[in-house]
Parts: sequence; structure tokens; C-alpha cells
Amino acid sequence: AKDSGKNRYVAYHKSMREGVINILAVENDLKRALKAREFEAYYQPIVNLADGRLYGFEALARWNHPERGMVNPGEFIPVAEETGLIVELGMQILEQACGVMNTWRKKHPIASELTIAVNISAKQFGESSLAADVASLLERSGLPSYCLKLEITETVVMLDAMKSTNQLNLLKDLGILLSIDDFGTGYSSMSYLQKFPTDQLKIDLSFVQRMESAPENIEIIRAIVNMAHSLRLRVVAEGIETERQRDLLYSLQCDYGQGYLYSKPLCEADAEDFVKNSE
Ligand code: C2E
Ligand code: CA
Ligand code: CA
Ligand code: CA
Repeated sequence: AKDSGKNRYVAYHKSMREGVINILAVENDLKRALKAREFEAYYQPIVNLADGRLYGFEALARWNHPERGMVNPGEFIPVAEETGLIVELGMQILEQACGVMNTWRKKHPIASELTIAVNISAKQFGESSLAADVASLLERSGLPSYCLKLEITETVVMLDAMKSTNQLNLLKDLGILLSIDDFGTGYSSMSYLQKFPTDQLKIDLSFVQRMESAPENIEIIRAIVNMAHSLRLRVVAEGIETERQRDLLYSLQCDYGQGYLYSKPLCEADAEDFVKNSE
């Protein structure tokens, strides 16, 4: 009872103000970092679950901060999204990812079969110029469009399904691959899923990691895979850390896998070694 409502309010108010100040500080730092090109794409391998062969990579943003070292996206993506800076940040990551994949294609025969997946945020997906921006970036990088995959979260595409269908169609017309990310965490309507010109669903790691402790997740994954396959979509599972998870997902007929069992996200040089070692 000592923790009176008034004190709680004061504490809440104070932390809120600190929160705002912190967001402003991060926003300014983000702006500076975008100019200084401090954001770096890391690349996490995605493999065929059947034989473990390399299928492609997902580009994941890291902030190579001059004082704080390598910063993970959880610490800057939310502020970047809130301030709109994610649009520029996303483009810098997309540009790096396309450039790197095109370089690998010229150097390593196996790379000609690989795809590179890049995350598209809610703000980016809402931009009417997105397809045109992706098209000009592809052209500048020289990467064939069928090598690029964009990942858009289920929550974002389902927010306004009609508008999303238009945006996805514009992107699909470029010849790229489309994947619905974090699948299962939102609410999808089958009828829209079927209308979206998508190629893949990506099962969120929360389902994969709870498969053994809460076996109902196995049934959820089974249902997602069956539904996806009936719509001719491929399924990627993320967050695979153990052989047991891999075996379960393979038995559920999941197509591709990604996770620490195979590799953590790698810097460009290490990812290139991973490509070489896959040959
Ligand atoms: P995501 O798109 O769902 O990416 C998967 C996250 O799971 C990544 O975290 C990855 O490092 C992590 N992960 C992969 N395998 C494992 C595993 O076996 N175990 C565990 N515990 N984690 C695993 P990361 O790199 O910290 O990225 C977090 C989120 O930040 C991403 O989630 C994505 O939503 C966002 N993000 C990252 N880069 C970008 C970007 O360039 N643009 C946008 N819009 N969002 C990004
Ligand atoms: Ca993703
Ligand atoms: Ca995500
Ligand atoms: Ca996820």
C-alpha cells in the first residue's frame, strides 16, 4: 500500500519523459548514422530442409556504431519506423544486399541459384513509390529480379488487404519473390492469402521454439504448411536451433529452414565463405 497511485503516476510520467528524450537522441543519432553509412547488412543462411543445401540468405540490419559497437535491430528498428527513417535505412540495406548477391554471382557458380531476402517495414510497404524504388535499385545493382525476395510481415499485409493486394501486384510485376514474414502471429484470411501474389510463408520463430514445450505448436505448423502447400506456397521456418526441431519441421514437410543450427547472421566476408564452402 506504500506504493501509492500518485507515486506510480509520477514515476510513469518521469520515465515517459525520459523515453521521449531517448527517442529524440536516437533519432538524431540515426540521422547521422544514415549519412555516415554505419548500417551494415548481415546475412543469415537459409537452407533446404531435405538435404541441408544452401538456398539463400536473409539480410538483417546491424548498426556499426562508433561508440556502442555492433547494435542489433531490436534497439533501432522501432525508432527508425516511428520516425520514418526506416525508409532510407531499408533502402541502404536493400542496396547492400542486392550488390553483394550480384558480386557473389559473378565469383561463385553456386551463387547463381541463391536468393537474397530483404525485410520491408510497414512504412516502406505503405510508400506508393516502393515498386519503382525497388526497380531502379535492381537496375543499378545489376541483380536479376528473380534473385530478390522481399519479406513483409503478416500483420502489415493484413492491415488493409485490398491496398496490399495492389502493392504486392506492383512488386510481383518486377519479377521478384514475395514472402509473408512472421506468419502465424497475426490473423490471416484464407481468401486474401489466396489472392496475394506471394511465393512463400515464413513461420515465426516463436512457433518453432515452442514446438517441444507446447506440442500444440506442432499442429499449428502442420496446418500452416498444409494450407500453404495447397495454395502452392513454399514454407520457411526460422529460429531452428536444434536437430530435433529440424527433424520435426522436415517431417511436417516444411521446405526451408533458417536458424542458429545452421548459422547465425554473418558479416559479408563470412557469408561469402559460407557460399564458398557450400560449393
Ligand atoms: P525477423 O525478420 O523475424 O528476423 C529473424 C530474427 O531472428 C533475426 O533477428 C535473426 O537474427 C533471429 N534468428 C535467426 N535464427 C535464430 C535462432 O536460431 N534463434 C534465435 N533466438 N534467433 C534467431 P535480428 O537480426 O535481431 O532482427 C530482428 C528483427 O528486426 C527482424 O525479425 C526484423 O523484423 C527486423 N529487421 C532486421 N533487419 C531489418 C531491415 O533491414 N529492415 C527491416 N524493416 N526490419 C529489419
Ligand atoms: Ca524477416
Ligand atoms: Ca519480422
Ligand atoms: Ca520472425
